[in-house]
Amino acid sequence: MPWPGGWTHETTIMRYMGNERIGLLGGTYNPIHRGHIHAAERVRDGFPLDRVLIIPSSIPPHKRVEEVAPPEHRLRMVELAVRGRSGFEVDGVEIRAGGRSYSIHTLETIRARFPRADIFLIIGIDAFLEIDTWREYRRVLDGCRQIVISRPGFRLEDARDVLGEEFGRRICRFPVSGKLEPDSPCTVFLMDVEPLDISSTRIRRRTGEGKPLTGLVDPAVEKYIKENGLYQGSHE
Ligand code: ATP
Ligand code: MG
Repeated sequence: MPWPGGWTHETTIMRYMGNERIGLLGGTYNPIHRGHIHAAERVRDGFPLDRVLIIPSSIPPHKRVEEVAPPEHRLRMVELAVRGRSGFEVDGVEIRAGGRSYSIHTLETIRARFPRADIFLIIGIDAFLEIDTWREYRRVLDGCRQIVISRPGFRLEDARDVLGEEFGRRICRFPVSGKLEPDSPCTVFLMDVEPLDISSTRIRRRTGEGKPLTGLVDPAVEKYIKENGLYQGSHE
């Protein structure tokens, strides 16, 4: 329904002037797995978002570099997994930039490319619980809205502890109860995506042990891992 001043009501979140809604799901994708795709689909459909950009990092700041496959392999696997899925795009912005990847830089680049879009950063709760270690994380929180998604072994409600009082009032459950007015303080949405219990760590370990990856990754990704001999020595 139309709303004064250019707002329209769709589900419970307002849309301003018909702006496009873009979700950014960054990660190491070492490798991409069904848990990523399933969660991103739930967010795309539940929110809803017009598109989701899957953004593999170049060098992740918080991971041991020797365990991370070269960026071109990770990018290729993301392309294989996303191929043919509507509303999904692979974005090589961090890999093209090289060096360590920081969300604040990515956000600024994407914002410059889509100046009129509403940008939502999609973050698993495990990653969000470490957001206070991110470079300029307050600017990240101020510069867009966040959708924090559930993950087995972590509690969405713990997001309130990491942000403390300063940002605490921005946190809301999604779907929100009732309608969300344009002046609502909610900018961080906690969303239960009924996550799959899959991690890249487990996939690397299984590959190192010579076990199949059926049901954990896209078959094209499993084939790519085999053909390129990735994660062979992995027993972590
Ligand atoms: P690793 O085990 O190497 O840390 P990972 O499985 O956590 O890998 P990442 O590339 O680190 O994958 O994750 C990228 C983003 O996707 C993060 O925000 C993470 O929380 C989220 N994510 C990863 N797996 C899942 C899952 N199964 N369900 C929901 N979110 C997930
Ligand atoms: Mg992780």
